Amino acid sequence: MDLSIVLPVYNEEKNISLLYEKLDKVLKGLNKSYEIIFVNDGSKDNSYDELVKIAENDKNVKIINLRKNFGQTAAMAAGIDYSIGEIIILMDSDLQNDPEDIPALIDKINEGYDVVSGWRKKRKDPLFSRKIPSFIANLLIKKISNVNVKDLGCSLKAYKKDVLKSIRLYGDMHRFIPIYASWVGAKITDLPVKHHPRQFGKSKYGISRTFKVIIDLFAMKFLGSYSTKPMHFFGKIAGLHFIFAILWSFIYLYRVIKSKKFLTDESLVLIFLFWALTVLFIGFGLLAEVMVRVYHESQNKPTYIIKDKINFDK
Ligand code: UDP
Ligand code: MG
Repeated sequence: MDLSIVLPVYNEEKNISLLYEKLDKVLKGLNKSYEIIFVNDGSKDNSYDELVKIAENDKNVKIINLRKNFGQTAAMAAGIDYSIGEIIILMDSDLQNDPEDIPALIDKINEGYDVVSGWRKKRKDPLFSRKIPSFIANLLIKKISNVNVKDLGCSLKAYKKDVLKSIRLYGDMHRFIPIYASWVGAKITDLPVKHHPRQFGKSKYGISRTFKVIIDLFAMKFLGSYSTKPMHFFGKIAGLHFIFAILWSFIYLYRVIKSKKFLTDESLVLIFLFWALTVLFIGFGLLAEVMVRVYHESQNKPTYIIKDKINFDK
């Protein structure tokens, strides 16, 4: 199979048939074997029925129906796990991404890139709740990760199968896929893509997402740089506290010797604090070491549960 398109769906009943028509037109014109995988992420509207109708008439359309709403990242992960195309394209199912960009994405992959990252050059979203927070988040992520990708929030991206399948997705971290990919040596490029305002249905996210993205950024940095050696991370913090603990202890000792009496002032509190924090951070580090091992051992556990599948061979 040449091509897999993976689309997470959560309450998009009004978008699905229109989206399918557009996809169908573009993909039929490519002369490639393809599959369209819709992952119904526990929709509460008629999305699932709409999808089933389409899958009954087109065997290229496959459906994964999740038991409940697991979130966009887990839905994407399910679609990726069951895809068989050499190139995998991820996109939203709310018509904000445009299927007409697919051929250009594929051309770029064929030029030799592992990841082609859609870039909403003319983004059609609200300025204050979306574009500005996203601008700041992208800047921070670029700085912290040292990976230069223009628009991480844009779902429309193309991946070589091997690169994407080697990345495990947790939490809300689909935004960071290009960064993980870059860390495992993928060649990445940006490609301007169309973007449309949402016509039907509502966005599933509010402004609090920016905060979550930034918090996730720290977790990502931690996992990227220290996931096999968390003790180095916590050890550094413990080391810092250790220096202060020693320093204050000596200063205190010096003062006690000089004044020849036991002193009960605030420096005792500081000494206690720094020693305690040193020990605590070492403890955190050790705990993290244990957890990291569990984390790596249990990598085969999926982050979603499937209720049923349609049009899949196995
Ligand atoms: N989505 C999903 N599960 C969720 C939330 C969203 O599968 O829990 C899907 C949604 O149907 C859409 C895509 O993820 O196809 C992006 O969501 P949305 O358009 O709400 O995000 P925005 O464009 O506002 O950033
Ligand atoms: Mg959207």
